[in-house]
Amino acid sequence: MTDWDRIERLLGHDTLNQLAQKTVGVVGVGSGGGYVALALSMTGIRRFILVDDDVLDVQNIVRHVADSRAIGQPKVQAVKDLILQRNPNASVQTVQGRIEDHLELLDEMDVLVVGVDTEGAKFSLNEACLERDLVAVYAGVYERGEGGDVVIIRPYNGPCYACWANSLREGHISPAPDGSDEEMDYGQRRPDGTLAGEPGLWLDVVRVANTQANMVLNILLEGTKAERQLPANTVILANQALEILEGHITPPFSAEWVNIVRDSHCLVCGDLQSQQSELSLDKLLKDQKGKHHE
Ligand SMILES: [Zn+2]
Repeated sequence: MTDWDRIERLLGHDTLNQLAQKTVGVVGVGSGGGYVALALSMTGIRRFILVDDDVLDVQNIVRHVADSRAIGQPKVQAVKDLILQRNPNASVQTVQGRIEDHLELLDEMDVLVVGVDTEGAKFSLNEACLERDLVAVYAGVYERGEGGDVVIIRPYNGPCYACWANSLREGHISPAPDGSDEEMDYGQRRPDGTLAGEPGLWLDVVRVANTQANMVLNILLEGTKAERQLPANTVILANQALEILEGHITPPFSAEWVNIVRDSHCLVCGDLQSQQSELSLDKLLKDQKGKHHE
């Protein structure tokens, strides 16, 4: 039995009802995505679609919401069980597979949590979300968990994930709120397109994932009194002292907000795309690899 009385007092009856009607998709329920799904189930959200092709391994146990009792189970099943322990009335659809093979699931989601860490899957999701006008929240964790970033991508209202990643990972941004032109210096991508991430401690991953979960909640609270106004579309979290903005050390546990704008020449969401029928993911990935080899 779950008692929602305190959450109802906090959010209000109507808002809690509103949350209960929404469906959150979580693609990738590893160390970050698994946490996001469980945390959101404890806010009153109760409809989930979980997608992940992986099985819980002994090595995951120190970096996952599920523990050794779930070793050998599909991660989607392990996370579903945890959600149902918190809320037996939750409705959790699970798919053990790759999202690229199940893109039609996106049609049923009100918001998407991107918990995968391969850039290829992120680019596929990006295009699928643009086609469906689906808002997505992406998170990335930096090397050794030193920090991470979270961004809300609203189709054709701001950057898509492709031009966002290009802009941020290349360091071309204007920090909010003053819009001055400082250089970024952090978390570059490796030539294979993934973030240069070595395993970090779960508590560092979770700080990023918790922000991602909170941003998803905030999207679903839009129009209610509980909604918080965010100053920009991207937050960069420092777990260690990080030089996120050139010449300025961001201390541990603090954060910088930056606003990334849409690139009108973006191969995915740029203005030229309206005249071109074919989106070229291959070309995009090739382009970006090229830049990193320079
Ligand atoms: Zn774009």
